[in-house]
Amino acid sequence: MPVDLTRRQVVAGLALAATAPVIGVPLIGAPAANAVVRPLELLPRNAWGAAKRHGPFRRHQIETITIHHSAVPFVDNTLAADRFQQHQNHHFSQGFPDISYHLLIDRNGNLYRGRPIRFVGSTATEYDPTGHLLILVEGDFDSQQPSHAQLNTLIRTTAWGCQKFGVAVAEVDGHRDNADTTCPGASLYRKLRNGSLTEQVQLVVDSETVPLVTVPKSQGRQIRAQIAAGTR
Ligand SMILES: [Zn+2]
Repeated sequence: MPVDLTRRQVVAGLALAATAPVIGVPLIGAPAANAVVRPLELLPRNAWGAAKRHGPFRRHQIETITIHHSAVPFVDNTLAADRFQQHQNHHFSQGFPDISYHLLIDRNGNLYRGRPIRFVGSTATEYDPTGHLLILVEGDFDSQQPSHAQLNTLIRTTAWGCQKFGVAVAEVDGHRDNADTTCPGASLYRKLRNGSLTEQVQLVVDSETVPLVTVPKSQGRQIRAQIAAGTR
């Protein structure tokens, strides 16, 4: 079954958390006048067991956003940390200084730090990722659909990036728009190009300033255990 998010679902999803502080502007179409905006939580690198990165890196300024998948099917989210470590090890083996991507989204919609955003990502394909914010949505979207939770986090993360770096929503691309690859997979790319994803991003951009909370490293190991136990 397609998992396209309706406008109502996205707006409702933004207002779900009852314990979060009230941040940002009132949402268009929000179900309650006192609805709260759930902050986007950015998990630290130790929440996925990242190995130490080893440069050299190049610095850049973000000018656009590119969406990726891993092209490896992913269903059991308790294995998220293992999966991201595999990517990092694979990227080390290609001579890259760290995992290629800046932001990582697991099957449950958890958002993690990858490579520091101030450093240019790496690619094995023929394009220059200088200026690109690289967002990885974990899975193979040629053979599976992104989950509702992944899409919700992707929409809010992309909206945050557009606001933070002054990127127009129309500039958000898939990897395949830049290089000879099927990335980010047929089902995710379709949502990008039929406007269903970008409409939701635009809705969020127009509705609120997306609050992003950086979760401290001191909580990373505990969060990793929760994800491995399937409770987060
Ligand atoms: Zn890609």
